[in-house]
Amino acid sequence: MVLAEPGRPLTGEERPLPRPPAGDLLVAVAACGVCRTDLHVVDGELPHPRLPIVPGHEIVGRVAAVGEGVDGFVAGQRIGVPWLGYTCGVCAYCRSGRENLCDAPLFHGYTRDGGYATHVLADARFCFPLPDGDDAHLAPLLCAGLIGWRSYRMAGEGTALGLYGFGAAAHILAQVAAWQGRRVYAFTRRGDEESQRFARALGAVWAGASEDTPPELLDAAIIFAPVGALVPRALAAVKKGGRVVCGGIHMSDIPSFPYRLMWEERQLLSVANLTRQDAHEFLGVAAKAGVKTQTTCYALARANEALADLREGRLTGAAVLIP
Ligand SMILES: [Zn+2]
Ligand SMILES: [Zn+2]
Repeated sequence: MVLAEPGRPLTGEERPLPRPPAGDLLVAVAACGVCRTDLHVVDGELPHPRLPIVPGHEIVGRVAAVGEGVDGFVAGQRIGVPWLGYTCGVCAYCRSGRENLCDAPLFHGYTRDGGYATHVLADARFCFPLPDGDDAHLAPLLCAGLIGWRSYRMAGEGTALGLYGFGAAAHILAQVAAWQGRRVYAFTRRGDEESQRFARALGAVWAGASEDTPPELLDAAIIFAPVGALVPRALAAVKKGGRVVCGGIHMSDIPSFPYRLMWEERQLLSVANLTRQDAHEFLGVAAKAGVKTQTTCYALARANEALADLREGRLTGAAVLIP
């Protein structure tokens, strides 16, 4: 399923099956999660996508062919392919353990073809083996889980954690946080009682509207909804020294707010991309915490429908495409 131009629906296209070039794997896609970032690409909210592009970066698949010079992968092996598709290895960020900020990266589904397809080529160095589990249920771990985990770590060690926007990422992190004994406060759109019930069922101690004041001040909050107006609200909900982490790649403008909301060493941070280290760490944690994702599966040809359901907030959990 191909995006020719932002703002247009994806169209189905037949292409010859490629041979993997040196260093790459040809991966037969078993499932590909639908991430909000895909929506930002399709809707033209992210600059300079490579066009035409096949979206999708939460890919679970099996190695179909191995390019020259690739070690450690065999045909038939199940692997995950995430957002991060390539880093230069030589820039200051790559050399200091921050490849998520690489100056010359490639991202699946944005600047390199992704997983809304039957097959995808991926640089083997950015693929990894997956723990046990069903293909569709593992897919959302590959971005909602991984980048969610990076946001979660940045939120610090506090025990009272707010999650603004209870979609794919929050429904995974709520389970990890509850497993670690933290108190999760889930904030949703006003009146979205289904998401609030869902949050409570996954271990949140409280769920309410994002305008509501939680019953205790928070140590940290993570904002997953792409809504800039949540930034001052979250700052008002964290205690002294608290952190507010913006976990998304795109957000509407942040309204101006009084300095007192940041005063007393409150911190506002953003999270960009992921490192391979995040992936290894998180997949281990998710397995130990027994994370179970809730998914709605769509046939690949229904990708536009899945994107529309995500855009309109009609999903509980995560959408997954099955080729
Ligand atoms: Zn680099
Ligand atoms: Zn994503």
